[in-house]
Amino acid sequence: MADKAKFQAIKGVRDILPPESALWNSGEQAAREVFGTFGFAEIRLPIFEQTELFARSVGLDTDIVSKEMYTFEDHGHRDIEFARKFALNTERYLKPGYPFGMERFLQAVDAFVDAVEGAFSGDKSLESRANKEALLEIKQATSQMWPLVTPDGAVTNEDAFRSFAIRIVFRLQSFHFENLLTLRPEATASVVRAYIEHGMQVQPGNVKLYYMGPMFRRERPQKGRYRQFYQIGAEVLGTSDAPGIDAEVIEMLMTLFERLKLKGTILNINSIGDKNCRPAYVEKLRAEFEKVREQLGADSQRRIETNPLRVLDSKLEHEQAIIEKLPRIGENLCDDCRAHYAEVKRQLDLRGIRYQENWRLVRGLDYYMRTTFEITAPGLGSQNAVCGGGRYDGLVELLGGPAATKGIGFAIGTDRLILSLQEAGEGAATGGPSGKAGGPDVYLAWFGAAAQTAAIGLAKRLRDAGFVVELPAVEMKFGKSLGLADRLKSRHAVIVGDDELAAGIVTVKRLSDGAQQKLAEPELMSYLRA
Ligand code: AMP
Repeated sequence: MADKAKFQAIKGVRDILPPESALWNSGEQAAREVFGTFGFAEIRLPIFEQTELFARSVGLDTDIVSKEMYTFEDHGHRDIEFARKFALNTERYLKPGYPFGMERFLQAVDAFVDAVEGAFSGDKSLESRANKEALLEIKQATSQMWPLVTPDGAVTNEDAFRSFAIRIVFRLQSFHFENLLTLRPEATASVVRAYIEHGMQVQPGNVKLYYMGPMFRRERPQKGRYRQFYQIGAEVLGTSDAPGIDAEVIEMLMTLFERLKLKGTILNINSIGDKNCRPAYVEKLRAEFEKVREQLGADSQRRIETNPLRVLDSKLEHEQAIIEKLPRIGENLCDDCRAHYAEVKRQLDLRGIRYQENWRLVRGLDYYMRTTFEITAPGLGSQNAVCGGGRYDGLVELLGGPAATKGIGFAIGTDRLILSLQEAGEGAATGGPSGKAGGPDVYLAWFGAAAQTAAIGLAKRLRDAGFVVELPAVEMKFGKSLGLADRLKSRHAVIVGDDELAAGIVTVKRLSDGAQQKLAEPELMSYLRA
C-alpha cells in the first residue's frame, strides 16, 4: 500500500494561522493608515525579478547575493533553442559532396536570427551585450554569404562560404538565453526599478511609496529569522536630500510603533559619509586592520579586502576590543556630510524623537550614504533589529535612472514586529474562527427546514450590518448546537425554531450569563449593538 504522504512546510517558512493572522492584519492596517497620513501610497511589486537587478543593487560581495538568493532559470525561449539546434544541425550541409544545397544552412541561420530578434523585442533582458554582439556578427556574415548563392542554389565560392559559416557556428554556440530570475530578497531594488521604468521622476515633489509582502533569503532559520519573511517598507525618491526628509521618515516609523503600542524600541542612528569622505575613511580602517590581521577571525580577514566597513558589524567577542579602538567615521566626515548629519539630529530633536548614536552602524554597500538607522525592539533575543534603513543616493543612478535622484527608505521585519508585540502581550488575540477576539457575535441555531430558510436571510442581514455570524450548515440537535456555540466562544446564540417562526421573533441567549429573551429583528439588531 502506498504511504500516505505527509507534507510539511519547508524549513524556514511557516504558516501564519488565526488568531495570529488578525494581529498581522491590524499591524499592516496601522501601517497603511499611518503612512497614508504622511502622504505615502502603496506600490505592489512583483515577487521575482531578474537576478541581475539584485546582483547589481544589493551587491555581489554581500551574503544575500553570494549565498542566500533563491534563483532559478526561466525556460521561456524554447523556440530560439530549437532554431539554434536546427541551424547547428544543418552544418552538415556544408560538407563537400553533401547532396543538398549549402544555402539551407543559411536559411536555418536566418530563421534563428528572426527568432532572436523577435525575442529581443519582447524581453529586453535577453539583449545582453554578448548576445547583441553575436547577433550582429551573424547578420554581417550572412549578408556576405547570400551573394555567394546562385539562383539555382549553388555556391560560387565554397571556401569563403565555409569560413563565414565557421564563424557563425562559433557565434551560435556562444549565445546565452538562460534567463535567471530571483525571488526578491528585499524590495528597495524593485521600487527603484519601478521608479525608473515608469518615469516617476516627472511627478511633482518627492515620490513616496510603501510596500508590504514576503521576501526570501536562504538564511539559517532561528527565532525571528526565516527564509520566507515579511517586510513593510517605504522609500522616498526625488531630487532633494534635505535632512528633514530623513527625520520625517524616521518620525513616520516611530509613529507607527507608537500606534501599535510597541514599547522599549531603541532608535540607533549614524552617518556613514558619502563618496567624498568615505573612501579615505575605509582606507584608514583597512590600514588599521592590516596591523592586527592575525588577531581577526576568518570572515573579518576576508572583509579587509572586500568590505572593511562590515567588520564593524562583527559580533565576535575577541574582535570587540580591537574595533573599539578604531578610528570612527564621525570624526572623518567631510563638511557637507557633517552638516547633513547635524541637521538630521536637530530635525529629530524638533520632532521629540529620542535616538542613540552608534558609530558602528554601517551599511556595506557603496550606494548607501550618510544617514543610516536601525530600530531594536525587546523580546527578540539576538535577532532584535526590527527595522533597518538608510539613505541611498547613488542607487537610482546605479540602476540606470537619472543621476540626480536621491533616495532614503527603511524596511520593518514584520515577523519580528509581531513577535515583539506578542512577547509584550499586546494584541494577544484569543478568538474564534473569524480571528476576531472572542469568537462570533452570533451563533445562529436553526431547527427545521422552514427555520433554515429564515436563518439564511437573517444571517445575511446581520452580516450586512457588520456582525460576525456562524450559521450551522446542517441541522443539529439543540444541545449539540448550543454546545458548539459555547466552544466557539460565541457571544450570543440566536435560536430560530418553529415557535419563533410562528411568533415572528427569535430567542437570544447571552452565553456569558445565560440571560435569554425573545426579540423581533429590529430589537435584535439594537440589542446586539449595545
Ligand atoms: P534588511 O533588509 O536586511 O536591512 O532587513 C530589514 C529588516 O528585515 C531587519 O531589521 C529584520 O527585522 C528583517 N529581516 C531581515 N532578514 C530577516 C529574516 N531572515 N527573517 C525575519 N526578518 C528578517
